[in-house]
Amino acid sequence: MIIDGKIVSKKIMEDIKERLKNGPKIMVAAIAYKEDKESIVYFNSIKRNAEKAGIGFNLLEIEGKDLIEKINELNDDSSVTGIIVGRPFPPGITNEIVSLALNPDKDIDCVTPHNLGLLNFNINSIAPATPKATIDILEQNGISLKGKNVLVINRSVTVGRPLVNLLLNRDATVTIAHSKTSNMEKMIEDNDIIILAVGKAGYLKSSSIKGKKIIVDVGINVVGDRIVGDFENDAQREDIDYTPVPGGVGSVTSAEILKNALDIVNL
Ligand code: NAP
Repeated sequence: MIIDGKIVSKKIMEDIKERLKNGPKIMVAAIAYKEDKESIVYFNSIKRNAEKAGIGFNLLEIEGKDLIEKINELNDDSSVTGIIVGRPFPPGITNEIVSLALNPDKDIDCVTPHNLGLLNFNINSIAPATPKATIDILEQNGISLKGKNVLVINRSVTVGRPLVNLLLNRDATVTIAHSKTSNMEKMIEDNDIIILAVGKAGYLKSSSIKGKKIIVDVGINVVGDRIVGDFENDAQREDIDYTPVPGGVGSVTSAEILKNALDIVNL
C-alpha cells in the first residue's frame, strides 16, 4: 500500500482555514540567502499554500552576511508572528548561531533550544515540521505507533533527534541509526517501521527486505530530472507499505510549518 501524504496535508490545511476564521492575523517571514535556490523554491511553495489559507507570508531573499541582523529585526517586528530560516545556512553561519538568535516565540520550525527542550520534556509545544509530518502521515493513515519497534536512520538535529522524542511520546520503542551503525540489515529485519532520512537514492530496496514492513521515506534526492526518496520498491512488493516521494512526507511538511504558525500564537 502507498501511504499517501497529500490527503494528510489537505486535512491539515482545512483545519488551518477553520481555525483562522475570526482569529488574529498571522504573518510569517521566511528568510533565504540569495544563493540558496532550493530554500527559495521550497518557501515559494509554502507561500502559495499560506496565501490560499489566508496566512500572510513574506519571503525575504537576503545577502548571506545579513542573516543574523535580519533575524534580530524580525524578532523585534510586532507585525511578524512567525519566522523560518532556509538551510543550509550561508558560509560561516552555523545551526547553533541561528537557533540561538531566533526568538522562540516566533520559531515556527522548532529549531531553538527552548522549543526543542519543551519537546524533550514532552510538554505540549510545537515540533519541527519534518518529524511531525512523519508522525502525522502514519497516524492519519491509521498506523498506531504504540508498542511498535521503530528504526530511524538519521541522527540530525532537524530530523532524527526530534523524531525520537515524538516517537517515544507515543510509546514506540525506538532505535536510532547512522552512517557508523553496524549490522543495519539485522536492525531493519528486527523493526516494524523503518524511517529513512539518509539522502541517498536507492539506499533501501524492497528486494533486500525480509518480511512485512512499513517504510516512511523522508529522503529527497534529485536524480536527473526526477525527485526520488531513499527507498525503491524494485521488487514491487505488496507486503511493504511505504510513503512515496514525491507525494509523501514532503507534501505534509509545508502544511506542518503553517500549522506551527498558528500553534505558536495559541490560535
Ligand atoms: P543529514 O544531516 O545529512 O543527515 C543524514 C543522516 O543519514 C545522518 O545521520 C547520516 O549519518 C545518515 N547516513 C548517511 N549515510 C548513511 C549510510 N550509508 N547508512 C546509514 N546512515 C547514513 O541530512 P538531513 O538534513 O537530516 O536530511 C536527510 C534527508 O531528508 C535528505 O535527503 C533531505 O533532503 C531529507 N529531508 C526531507 C524533508 C522533507 O520534508 N521530506 C525535510 C528535511 C530533510 P551520520 O550522522 O553518521 O553522518
